[in-house]
Amino acid sequence: MTLRIGIVGAGIGGLAAAALLARHGHAVTIAERFATPRPLGSGLVVQPVGLAVLEAIGADDAARALAAPIRQMRGQAGRREILTVDYRAGAPGLAMHRASLFHVLWSAAMAAGVTLATGAAVLAAPQEGGVRWLVRDGGGDRLGPFDLVIDGSGTGSLLSPMAARALPFGAVWASVPWPEGAVLPQDQLSQRYFRAEKMAGVLPIGRLPDDPTPRAALFWSLPLAGLEAWPEVRFDAWRDNVGRFWPAMVPFLDQLRGKADLTPARYAHGSLARVYQPGLVFLGDAAYRASPQLGQGANMALLDAMALTLALAACPLADALPRYARMRRWHRRFYQALSASFTPMYQSDSRLLPVLRDWVLAPVGRMPPVNRILTALVSGNLLPPLASTRFP
Ligand SMILES: Cc1cc2nc3c(=O)[nH]c(=O)nc-3n(C[C@H](O)[C@H](O)[C@H](O)COP(=O)(O)OP(=O)(O)OC[C@H]3O[C@@H](n4cnc5c(N)ncnc54)[C@H](O)[C@@H]3O)c2cc1C
Repeated sequence: MTLRIGIVGAGIGGLAAAALLARHGHAVTIAERFATPRPLGSGLVVQPVGLAVLEAIGADDAARALAAPIRQMRGQAGRREILTVDYRAGAPGLAMHRASLFHVLWSAAMAAGVTLATGAAVLAAPQEGGVRWLVRDGGGDRLGPFDLVIDGSGTGSLLSPMAARALPFGAVWASVPWPEGAVLPQDQLSQRYFRAEKMAGVLPIGRLPDDPTPRAALFWSLPLAGLEAWPEVRFDAWRDNVGRFWPAMVPFLDQLRGKADLTPARYAHGSLARVYQPGLVFLGDAAYRASPQLGQGANMALLDAMALTLALAACPLADALPRYARMRRWHRRFYQALSASFTPMYQSDSRLLPVLRDWVLAPVGRMPPVNRILTALVSGNLLPPLASTRFP
């Protein structure tokens, strides 16, 4: 049955759901708050499970053409190797600039015939006589009617009843051209730690759609007090401090023109007990949030879009929403729980947790079969991503 579907937010989950559902014959409208939809932030990794969703959308080749394939993740504290995860041969992570992932999803959604309504935030999605409407900012403008509204408006959702818990650490992020002569490998996420108080990272992220220059995402962990004081921090002093901490990062830091190139990001953990209401369903960060330590947030949003599409193809709307929730429940809970337990080992004031990380978990993590379990964990398929469904 063809449904009239309104999607709030042209982000990763919203665009993926729009492209998939329009390809399945539904009449899809996306409502996005920005006049020109634009991705925020710097880089992320599309894990092998996320790539399987891009394949279903027909956007995998476009993504591969822009991404940097990541074959390993490495982290050191001093001279000690702390993080060692290798992807399976032939199944790398695809590290991408957010703008590039946005570009491929956007192109797929537009090619599938999705209607766009931009330039006004959605404030509410009231239900009247069995259908939903989207009430937008700026003078009572309404879109609809819709048989189903999908909330893909991320951490800023005004529709989601989630109460998320702010985490004590966030980070500043930037994207810069990959410098000539840099010693870091271009197929690896590289990180440096000091206890769990300091963490710096460099991730190759491929290129932008309109620029062949290979780029890198940089990040530097900061406690909440550091994020609050960030506006007063002197750029030169910050750059020199980070460069002393990790000399291999200096050529990347030298590409920054000033603080305007750095974006502060706060992290939160939270989960909706129920990801649907009559005629309304939540996906991605509007349904659950985690720190990016495991690099799974974008993948969760992509998997949600896939699960919802398959559930709607398999049964009538009233049954499809609980089916979607069941398909994603355990995978989502499992990754939420792991993210909550791993994050303080890398971002906290604890003295004990980094000792446990460095002297127990790091050596155990290099031994078989734990190393293979870590590979599956990072790839996103340690548990079936869409329960009761065959999924590559
Ligand atoms: C610094 C950082 C690094 C990360 N690194 C990774 C990584 O390596 N790997 C990974 O998988 N994930 C990563 N994540 C997480 C990932 O970015 C998110 O989980 C993912 O973007 C969630 O997708 P979404 O579709 O739910 O929301 P978003 O992609 O945030 O999209 C939400 C959209 O909704 C729009 N919107 C918001 N409110 C309204 C409104 N009221 N009306 C209309 N439109 C609205 C927004 O403008 C936006 O376009 C990272 C996150 C951060 C902050």
